[in-house]
This record gives sequence, structure tokens and C-alpha cells, in this order.
Amino acid sequence: MEYFLSIQGEGFHTGTASFFIRIGGCDVGCHWCDVKESWNPEIHPVVSVEEIINKIPAHIDTVVITGGEPSLYNLESLSKILKEKGKKIHLETSGTGNLPLNMDWICLSPKKNEPPKKEFYSVADELKVIVQNKTDLKFAKEQATKTSPKTHLYLQPEWSQREKMLPLIIEFIQENPQWKISLQTHKYLNIP
Ligand code: SF4
Repeated sequence: MEYFLSIQGEGFHTGTASFFIRIGGCDVGCHWCDVKESWNPEIHPVVSVEEIINKIPAHIDTVVITGGEPSLYNLESLSKILKEKGKKIHLETSGTGNLPLNMDWICLSPKKNEPPKKEFYSVADELKVIVQNKTDLKFAKEQATKTSPKTHLYLQPEWSQREKMLPLIIEFIQENPQWKISLQTHKYLNIP
């Protein structure tokens, strides 16, 4: 759908200069999704792996593959070339498709309406639960029980509900310090 250089705004790698590859196509259908234009893959022309790779600045180490839902696709040819170029590959996924190989970091963001496939939980480096209402905190706790002890746990307020949800998240994290807060800092910075 698009590729661009920016700064990771969310989760463990917040603040890191990263090249983003956003892959079109997602059938999860979160009503609060902020990239609904990604849902229909038909409206995004096919772009060759070579074209994308050639746009990545040589000095940028981190490539974030996001969507849409990138696990719907076979990412092998893309990830193979990225590894040959010495890049670190970070995947952002809801875990509804196939678990891709060659990822250096997997950020699993489970959604209630279509939970991840079970193989994603044990390999998730980071679990990022979007909190749109109070019941999402219960969902977050349930999801965390399926991850490995090494998984970093993040709660992120859904952008349009952030003023309402932040006090709940702050209280939750004070009581459950294994969790951390993730803010969409790229939105505060007004960058992509
Ligand atoms: S999984 Fe991600 S891309 Fe798909 S609808 Fe939900 S927020 Fe949007």
C-alpha cells in the first residue's frame, strides 16, 4: 500500500528511525481502525520487492512490516532480501494469518473479533493490546497468559478514546507493573 521512512511511534521500539512497509489487505475489520484504506488489497497496485528494497536508505537498520495484515501473505521473498541487506525486520501483526519466518521482532496485537492463531503467542516479542473500553483490560490479561515469559506487555489507548482510557490504563499498570503503556507518539508528533 505504501512505504515510507519515519520513527516508530508505538511499543518497545518507540523512537527508533524505521522504514515502514505497509501491506494492503486486512479482513479483521476493527471499527476503530485508523488505516481502513488498507483493507481492500484490490485498490493497491502490486509493487515489486526490488522497488521497495531500493527505496530503503542504506543507513536505516530497521524495517517495519505492517498493514493491513501482513501475515495474510507469503513474506519470504521480501524477508530474505531484507536479511541479505542486513536489515532487522520487525513485524506488526494481529496474528490471523500464517506465521512468517525470518522476523527479528514480532509485535502481536490481538483483536477480539478475530483472535490470533496459537503459534503467534509463543514467539511474540511484544504483546500490544489496544484499549478502547474497560473490557479490553480483561482481554489483555487473558491474552498475556498465552504468551511466553519473555514477551513485553503493552497497553495502548485507542486514539479516539485516549482521554477516557488513559486514567484506566494508568491505574491498571500501577497495579500490574509487568505491563507498560504504549502511546501513538507519531500522532502526537504529526508524522506518518
Ligand atoms: S487488524 Fe489492524 S489493519 Fe486490520 S482492521 Fe484491525 S487495526 Fe485495522
